[in-house]
Amino acid sequence: MSPETLVQLPNLTAPTSPYDSAEFDAHVMATYARFPLTLERGLGCRVWDAEGREYLDFVAGIATCTLGHAHPAMIEAVTQQIQKLHHVSNLYYIREQGDLAKWLIEHSCADRAFFCNSGAEANEGAIKLARKYAHTVLKIESPVILTAHASFHGRTLATITATGQPKYQKNFDPLMPGFHYVPYNDITAIEEAIALLDTPSRHVAAIMLEPLQGEGGVRPGDVAYFQRVRQICDEKGILLILDEVQVGMGRTGHQWGYENLGIEPDIFTSAKGLGGGIPIGAMLCKSFCDVFQPGDHASTFGGNPFACGVALKVCQTLEQDNLLENVRQRGEQLRSGLKAIAQKYPNLITEVRGWGLINGLVLNSDIELTSSQIVKAAMDDGLLLVPAGPKVVRFVPPLIVNEAEIDGALQAIERALAALG
Ligand SMILES: *Cc1c(COP(=O)(O)O)cnc(C)c1O
Repeated sequence: MSPETLVQLPNLTAPTSPYDSAEFDAHVMATYARFPLTLERGLGCRVWDAEGREYLDFVAGIATCTLGHAHPAMIEAVTQQIQKLHHVSNLYYIREQGDLAKWLIEHSCADRAFFCNSGAEANEGAIKLARKYAHTVLKIESPVILTAHASFHGRTLATITATGQPKYQKNFDPLMPGFHYVPYNDITAIEEAIALLDTPSRHVAAIMLEPLQGEGGVRPGDVAYFQRVRQICDEKGILLILDEVQVGMGRTGHQWGYENLGIEPDIFTSAKGLGGGIPIGAMLCKSFCDVFQPGDHASTFGGNPFACGVALKVCQTLEQDNLLENVRQRGEQLRSGLKAIAQKYPNLITEVRGWGLINGLVLNSDIELTSSQIVKAAMDDGLLLVPAGPKVVRFVPPLIVNEAEIDGALQAIERALAALG
């Protein structure tokens, strides 16, 4: 029997029945505050719910669906890879993993890659690598990693500790030792923390930052700050780790977020956009700090042929279709449109900020209006958005978004604001 005869393709246009969310809630843990919406199908930057209603998707699975939904390149890569080989373990050489690592290294400042399944897991790898480097090369007994207030690095125990937001840590103590927090974009705070932590046994071994804080409110890194941080790291032998999980993979109009800052990290992590929605994470580093040896770190699913084959196709499509240029142009269009809207509602909106296709509409903190209220109003109008904290509405469409879709989103957000204002 040939594989084709086994595959029954779904009838994509057939109506589906409404979904019973009460049954879902009876069986799935209540870790998420979900919107009352069940999406059944997607194409490009559009998705459809169980009742057949169409939405413009400016969430993209939270900055993840790089090529949108049902992209021909992804369909081809997924279909071909699953028929060939999908998982074998890292007991053996995996061609697709090697090819993806080569692409990432040729398109970044890094020399080596490690693959895993998520952003948190990539950051765990970065933390472990920095600690091993601190112990074995720098000979620091108690290494400390500096991270920023309002940062977000994931939901595992080490990464909620790295995350400088108490709301993610509450009730999960004891947290991991070896982290210290500083305000973001504040160079004096970094200098003071390094001096404060300089004791015979304890030293700052690494500084871990997002080039632009995503979950923390779409807050871009300051160029002068990051360049000074890089200088301090060079002077003191401290590792600079950048969390590129949300802003990497072309999201900002450059391949990596750090290119907006004119610096290079020693270690960086990627996940969200890397597989276009297929779970994959990566931790990359320069060769001087690649201290991992066989047995030091591992992941059963990490770097399997399926995830890597699809991610490589996403990377190649980003390049072949010149999507970075699209991100820059559509990002400009979106930001100037949002700024024009902000001028019409100065009592509601105080700022529009972002890079490329990660942008935030910052709400006036003196009024009661929340980002969730705007997100709900936009959803009722057929536009999907995601909050970045209580006062920032985030716009992270697929990187293939076109001019008409940006216009459609701007019209919908303006109607939502008019309804609320
Ligand atoms: C989403 C995110 C993470 C966590 O990624 P997961 O895949 O959810 O583990 C880490 N860092 C940043 C900057 C993120 O945006």
